[in-house]
Amino acid sequence: MVLAHRQQFELLSKEVGLGLLGWFRTVNRVTCPCCGYPTLQSRKQFEICCLCDWEDDGQDDQEAELILGGPNGEYSLSLARDNFQRYASMSLPSDERYIKELNHSRIKQLKIELASEFDRMLLASPRQLPGLWRNALRIEDEMEKQLLQNATPHIV
Ligand SMILES: [Zn+2]
Repeated sequence: MVLAHRQQFELLSKEVGLGLLGWFRTVNRVTCPCCGYPTLQSRKQFEICCLCDWEDDGQDDQEAELILGGPNGEYSLSLARDNFQRYASMSLPSDERYIKELNHSRIKQLKIELASEFDRMLLASPRQLPGLWRNALRIEDEMEKQLLQNATPHIV
């Protein structure tokens, strides 16, 4: 299910022109290997996914069971995926990062909104995509502001 969605997201997240006033931007995303949503600008650049908090060190399906250490610590990709399905985060509720991020209800709300905006894209016509992407980018901006306000830096 996640894999099929990931392929769909890869297709509909490429070269989407947003075109309206103030939005002369083109969306060009790749999917996060953990949550499967199109949250990353490119792969293997150690970007942190704003939805699941996975840091993209390049790990993917073929080595999903391995615990590589590095930015995602003691989590294998498979475990992180399970955690996202259960807790809306790659980390366990007992993890310090999880508590900081998701106990803030506004951020949790925004994550839910962003995920449902992405889910809508799977059913949308090509003409509806730019509007959905504008909504998604607005939610991402708001999330970033909230995170800065609450001074919750990621553990490096
Ligand atoms: Zn993710």
